[in-house]
Amino acid sequence: MERKIDWNAPWMTEEHLMFKESTRKFFESELSPHTERWAEQGVVDRDFWFKAGEAGLLGASAPEEFGGVGADQSFDALTMYEQARAGDSGWGFGVHNICTHYIMAYANEEQKARWLPGLISGEIVPALAMTEPGTGSDLQAVRTTADKDGDDYIINGSKIFISNGQQADIVIVVAKTDKDAGGRGISLIVVETADAEGFARGRNLKKLGMKAQDTSELFFENVRVPRANLLGEQEGQGFIHLMLQLGWERANIGIAAIAAMDTVIEETVRYVQERKAFKQRLMDMQNTRFKLAEAKTKADVTKAYINECMVKLIDGKLDPVSGATAKWWGSQMQCEVVDECLQLHGGYGYMMEYPVARAYADSRVQKIYGGANEIQKELIARSLDN
Ligand SMILES: Cc1cc2nc3c(=O)[nH]c(=O)nc-3n(C[C@H](O)[C@H](O)[C@H](O)COP(=O)(O)OP(=O)(O)OC[C@H]3O[C@@H](n4cnc5c(N)ncnc54)[C@H](O)[C@@H]3O)c2cc1C
Repeated sequence: MERKIDWNAPWMTEEHLMFKESTRKFFESELSPHTERWAEQGVVDRDFWFKAGEAGLLGASAPEEFGGVGADQSFDALTMYEQARAGDSGWGFGVHNICTHYIMAYANEEQKARWLPGLISGEIVPALAMTEPGTGSDLQAVRTTADKDGDDYIINGSKIFISNGQQADIVIVVAKTDKDAGGRGISLIVVETADAEGFARGRNLKKLGMKAQDTSELFFENVRVPRANLLGEQEGQGFIHLMLQLGWERANIGIAAIAAMDTVIEETVRYVQERKAFKQRLMDMQNTRFKLAEAKTKADVTKAYINECMVKLIDGKLDPVSGATAKWWGSQMQCEVVDECLQLHGGYGYMMEYPVARAYADSRVQKIYGGANEIQKELIARSLDN
């Protein structure tokens, strides 16, 4: 279908535009036809990861020596945008991208050679396990432990709400290697699930939205992992490593937000042009026009801020506070816009067969995951108060 609204920005080169177009076509043919079925089965087909790998989506910003394309993360941003525009909230590309960048940033050469080629080809699906039943926002309070035993760690604990949890071949586990050192006792350890005795996947959790995304409990009972699977040169760096990547992770949520707003506004315009009440098109009513104008403005102003973040990203200067701003503002605007657009659909907007209903259910989590919006505001406030 022809797009009236799109993401075009001065920072996009000819290469960006070509990549964006081919990614859009790939999603149209390989993803959109399956989203309904994936939502019913609660997980995307494993096969899709390989197709995405083959299409070059999983390694756009990974080094060529491991099978990547060697471009920068702005290309991944376009994949995020196009995935959401294709109407999918299930495929765990965002988490894959985050995990791949952890490996690129903190793994040693041996670890990179072990995991990057599989991550780029789609053979390895990754997950990032921070959240626990007892703690989410307060990451320093994690209770999962990794105790040293000879050349191994013994991991004990449980995690919850882990995206890609049912399919994950590797899990980057946030664990305490020193229980008494607070944030300085946290390390990132890679668990290779196929060989991990004592590792168990719990339920694929039933969610309000994002039905095709497998979100799981994970359990670790005396899971033995070689100490060679520690990410980073020494223990206790995990919290700092997580913080250093947060700007990008959170900006990603802002990118998904602009894609969701563009899609839902476009769909709503189509709907109100066709639907009639009181002998006129809904589109001809001033309230409809004003609501849509407000929605478009919210989307465009958010996009302008995301574009600023993209310029910083390309320059290697995207900071956590900008990421926090993009995350909370983008997700807040997304929820407001989707809600108004649903209202313009009347009762049809409440029916799951209308994309706006699914967008409504999918959007809510954007204010929660990736660090709840209150935590983002706390981070921004802290930057004002130092
Ligand atoms: C669909 C989905 C996918 C997810 N994927 C992953 C994943 O892949 N990996 C992973 O590790 N986690 C994942 N999460 C977990 C997510 O990151 C957490 O849910 C989130 O960080 C909030 O933690 P919590 O749920 O424990 O809420 P809590 O920390 O209990 O917070 C509850 C409420 O209290 C507020 N609050 C907490 N602390 C403060 C404070 N200091 N000031 C003001 N308000 C505060 C919060 O903002 C929130 O509104 C996912 C969650 C969902 C729903």
